[in-house]
Amino acid sequence: METVKRVALVAHDNRKADLTEWVKYNAEKIASHHLICTGTTGKMVEKTLAGCDRKPLSLKKLKSGPLGGDQQLGALAATNKIDILIFFWDPMQPQPHDVDVKALLRISVLYNVPTACNRATADFLIDSPHFSIPYKRQLKDYSQYIMRNI
Ligand code: PGA
Repeated sequence: METVKRVALVAHDNRKADLTEWVKYNAEKIASHHLICTGTTGKMVEKTLAGCDRKPLSLKKLKSGPLGGDQQLGALAATNKIDILIFFWDPMQPQPHDVDVKALLRISVLYNVPTACNRATADFLIDSPHFSIPYKRQLKDYSQYIMRNI
């Protein structure tokens, strides 16, 4: 991944306030990167950043999570179109799209995407030197699991 990162942001409803607070606190650092968000999270992040001096290079809003936004993010992770995933999921409430949440987390592990599911990890990620320099993600070879000649 390049110096400029494509940062995916997602938060479940009970975690949106935590995420927007984190975004506001880190507005300066985020300003050098592109943001890709699920729908409602994106709207809230946009509103939060409207009141900040520094804006991200771009902010893209996908579909809302329960309407397929998590799956869109999974597809982006699988095609090397996101570099970092900040996903504040709700540990206290089941979601109608639990399977999509699980799928996104699985794909982020499979493709070795740096992933933060809580604020402390998000802080560690954004303060890491790797956040602002190029970084080569290693991908494990899973080809043995693929059935061939069918
Ligand atoms: P939202 O989706 O940003 O559209 O609320 C997040 C999610 O529930 O995965």
